[in-house]
Amino acid sequence: MTRFGLLLLAALLGGILPLLALTPQSQPISQKAHDLHFRSIVVDTHDDTTQRLLDPKFDLGAHHTDGSIDIPRMREGGLDAVFFSIYIPGSVTGPIAVQRALEQIEAVRRQTALHPQDLALATTAAEIRNAFAAHKIAVLIGVEGGHMINNDLANVDKFASLGVRYMTLTHMVNTDWADSSTDKSAHNGLTDFGKQVVAEMNRVGMVVDVSHIADKTFYDVLATSQAPVIASHSSCRALDDAPRNMTDDMIKALAAKGGVIQINYHVGFLSQEFRDAEKAAPDLGKAIEAESKKRCGDQEACQLIEADKILREYVAQGKLPRVVWTKIIDHIDHAVKLVGADHVGLGSDFDGADMPYGMEDATHLPQITNALLGKGYSESDITKILGGNTLRLMQGVEATSKKLGGKP
Ligand SMILES: [Zn+2]
Repeated sequence: MTRFGLLLLAALLGGILPLLALTPQSQPISQKAHDLHFRSIVVDTHDDTTQRLLDPKFDLGAHHTDGSIDIPRMREGGLDAVFFSIYIPGSVTGPIAVQRALEQIEAVRRQTALHPQDLALATTAAEIRNAFAAHKIAVLIGVEGGHMINNDLANVDKFASLGVRYMTLTHMVNTDWADSSTDKSAHNGLTDFGKQVVAEMNRVGMVVDVSHIADKTFYDVLATSQAPVIASHSSCRALDDAPRNMTDDMIKALAAKGGVIQINYHVGFLSQEFRDAEKAAPDLGKAIEAESKKRCGDQEACQLIEADKILREYVAQGKLPRVVWTKIIDHIDHAVKLVGADHVGLGSDFDGADMPYGMEDATHLPQITNALLGKGYSESDITKILGGNTLRLMQGVEATSKKLGGKP
């Protein structure tokens, strides 16, 4: 989930770029790329589609023309495992935050019961592999924001027992125990209680997600966690200086401990030009927020999708730069050049952010495989980036949990 934080914080928009020809629905890829993509286990570690699942009328089994994720489009794009994000704004705290998180976890779990032929709940790397072997899409759950545990370690255990396999320690604002990258430092990183949260996550086998947290918090987490950690949806700050992105030093430190950076496709995190344009015209961002609220009331899923539509109108009018999907490849390549292919993966932020042209939905994912082959990447490296690295990381977290006496 990035959009509203971005809108609120950044003071945004206003770029100018000529509108090019519309991107075709799907781009041709080689047979070799197609075969490699569909025999690899493709994992996406961050999708905000959960907000849509809260609407009882939304059918994940239907092919939609809006948003980015549904079963038919995951099938078409060869997307084999998805972490559905449990999200409420960081400003919502207390018991209600726990309650709303539980409702969303239930909404995700319910989908596997509604679509047993297509979906299987997965909580381990082995269960993802089993789902793939059974031609099902693995459904995983990640909690986006430590505020949802309401400062109670028992809720870490509770979430884990319901299938949650990662937790992002903060969202856009600080929690009571960890600083966010998009808030003013209040704790100088991770507090002592925050370190207990990390230790408990290690024990129960929940991956620690370092996306969104402040740089100091990140280094505190690395020093605390006994298991490798993930950045579930972050891109490279060397290419786009969003504070949410990771510096080269952070990516190196993450990799040195066996972690993985999962590249985020949001245009504001991929393109410096877009980010600069946003900053230059804050009124555009405010206008998008106001208009999406007008269209949707307080319905989060609707707001996210409408805001993306409005943003595209602004791009068409030349008010904002047009960012194309190959920027994703630039970020993957930057990270691979830094730390090798063992530490990079995919964390789209589908249905929670503004997708680049040519990556509007999951059907476009084979283009990534095609582009990496075109850059000379080996098939084994591509398979790792598509999902193998995430599976390895999950196995590492599971092994640490066993060692610590948990039961992942
Ligand atoms: Zn997010």
